[in-house]
Amino acid sequence: MTTTPASPRTTGPLRTTGGLRTTGGLRTTGPIPMPRTGRSAMPGVVQGVVGLGAAMVLGLWWKDTPAISNLGDALTAAGDILGLLAGYGFVVLVGLMARIPPLERGIGADRLARWHAMGGRYVITLVTGHVLAITWGMAVTVHESVTREAVTLLTSYTDVLYATIAWFLLLLIAAISARAVRRKVSYEAWYYLHLLTYASIALAFSHQFADGPDFVANATARFAWSAIYVIVGAAIVWWRIITPLGMFARHRFTVMGVREEARGVVSVYISGRNLDAMRAEPGQFFRWRFLTKELFWQSHPYSLSAMPRPDMMRITVKARGHHSGSMAHLRPGTRVIAEGPYGAFTPSLSGRRVLLIAGGVGITPIRAMFAALPRRMSVGITLIYRASHPRDIVFRQELDAIAADRNATVHYIIGSRARLGYDPLAPEELAALVPGLHRYEAYVCGPTGMTQAAVESLQALGVKRRHVHHEAFDF
Ligand SMILES: Cc1cc2nc3c(=O)[nH]c(=O)nc-3n(C[C@H](O)[C@H](O)[C@H](O)COP(=O)(O)OP(=O)(O)OC[C@H]3O[C@@H](n4cnc5c(N)ncnc54)[C@H](O)[C@@H]3O)c2cc1C
Repeated sequence: MTTTPASPRTTGPLRTTGGLRTTGGLRTTGPIPMPRTGRSAMPGVVQGVVGLGAAMVLGLWWKDTPAISNLGDALTAAGDILGLLAGYGFVVLVGLMARIPPLERGIGADRLARWHAMGGRYVITLVTGHVLAITWGMAVTVHESVTREAVTLLTSYTDVLYATIAWFLLLLIAAISARAVRRKVSYEAWYYLHLLTYASIALAFSHQFADGPDFVANATARFAWSAIYVIVGAAIVWWRIITPLGMFARHRFTVMGVREEARGVVSVYISGRNLDAMRAEPGQFFRWRFLTKELFWQSHPYSLSAMPRPDMMRITVKARGHHSGSMAHLRPGTRVIAEGPYGAFTPSLSGRRVLLIAGGVGITPIRAMFAALPRRMSVGITLIYRASHPRDIVFRQELDAIAADRNATVHYIIGSRARLGYDPLAPEELAALVPGLHRYEAYVCGPTGMTQAAVESLQALGVKRRHVHHEAFDF
């Protein structure tokens, strides 16, 4: 079942320049002390807090909504609550993306991005419902046509005009985020257009206080509402701008060298000061901004492929597009802004046996975890590494050295399913390879299809959901 290739050539020389260190590779054997885990938020608690906030918004609306006596009142009141919930929804959506460390660590960037995308659809629906219900409700109340009333609202109230522009911006953002369009637009174009959300929030803000019945005569509500916007705005500035710049100044990240690991895969070694003080955990990633003319305006997520030493860390990247393909050409001495560490894909140290499943470049966080698991667990560590071709295997020597040092088992399963003649991640094959799977904590990282298949097989074999951890390399 297990195909072991004849030693593929997986490493190349480390390309560096004069003043940089060229020796002292990353430690490959022996467990590395686990860093102290920072505070992390539980997904259920975060959902509870968001729900509580929504309930308070409903309470505010209920308190200030007069008795409804006709269709016009009903529509206006409905438009009011939809608008209030949308205004609150924006705060939640932006808060989820503020890169607040306990959220990133406890929930994980990929899950936060999924919540953000799902929430975004709800909020745009709420805003659209708000616009339609308010316009219709006002038209019914003043016995006008909806079109005429819309024109009156736009020409008589500047705040409403700004809010309408904000709504159009949101519709544009929704359109470019639709899956069919997103596939055709580059990630960067989508990302920078997506930032128009901030402009939209700013444009719509004033109409809430100028025209919202819940705020016009309620200074406390205005204060509380402004406070949540200010807090979330400050969180964005703090964690997305000031913190990375502070880290840049403190740690002085600099490209030290690039090493070819396999076909289209390179490791980038980054030097710096006191890198262990960042307390990165195995399995975590940073967002990397390489300060070259071509790359400074993009930051991309790449996982650590080994735990940082005080003076050096390493990422390993497969060329997939422009940014990842540029990694092979990075010049030693290039300065780097690294934002992180992020991610909840970290070993839980539950005391159970550990199964690591990696596919392709998904080996990067798995390699870091493999080397860092405590020695006492080594009897129960199994790594399954899937690749399409022997040439695609990276870190073979490192993985073998770690396994030998720790008495752990590594299965290299190489070749497509068609070529192998079976699906190595199907439940029966997995059960034969790793008996007693229900006693394991499993970590899966690889292409989306492979990850899904492995997770389904593990669950079919009785591994509970809470014991299966996986990471997607796409947000
Ligand atoms: C948490 C995480 C950890 C990752 N770790 C690694 C790793 O260790 N090694 C590795 O080789 N790859 C890793 N990736 C994938 C890597 O980030 C993408 O392959 C890379 O950003 C692609 O950019 P590109 O310009 O080369 O290709 P493009 O052709 O521009 O993008 C290919 C796809 O990558 C995704 N992508 C592009 N830019 C970004 C971005 N800035 N942020 C998020 N997703 C983006 C999009 O889904 C896009 O469709 C990781 C991704 C995530 C989300």
